[in-house]
Amino acid sequence: MPIDATLPYDPDNIFARILRGEIPSKRVYEDAHAIAFHDINPQAPHHILVIPRGPYVSWDDFSANASEAEIAGFVRAVGAVAREAGFVEPGYRLLANTGMDSGQEVPHLHVHIFAGARLGPMLAR
Ligand code: AMP
Repeated sequence: MPIDATLPYDPDNIFARILRGEIPSKRVYEDAHAIAFHDINPQAPHHILVIPRGPYVSWDDFSANASEAEIAGFVRAVGAVAREAGFVEPGYRLLANTGMDSGQEVPHLHVHIFAGARLGPMLAR
């Protein structure tokens, strides 16, 4: 079910539980500001999710309320994950669903990284 990105942060959402290590994930990266792990239902040959450590519901919440250090750290982490995975030269795509119309399902900001094939048109039609 898509979520309303204006709701308050739910500390028991599934990505908060992954951050706390309460449920398993295939973690590929972590630093002071972010962690990254494989999406459980990949939509491309490579599909990684990057999430900030801070409690932000969505891109809207994060861009409005996170500190400069959190924003810089998260953006750098997304780049580092893609670089370390070898995605830069063949190319990759970033996606951050935000709110109902986007279909966002998990109410903790996550950036999807897709790679490993020609990814086709930006949106399904
Ligand atoms: P979104 O629709 O943008 O909110 O994306 C949520 C993503 O989280 C989907 O691609 C799911 O496959 C993924 N997902 C849900 N639960 C897990 C989990 N436990 N571990 C890894 N990825 C998950």
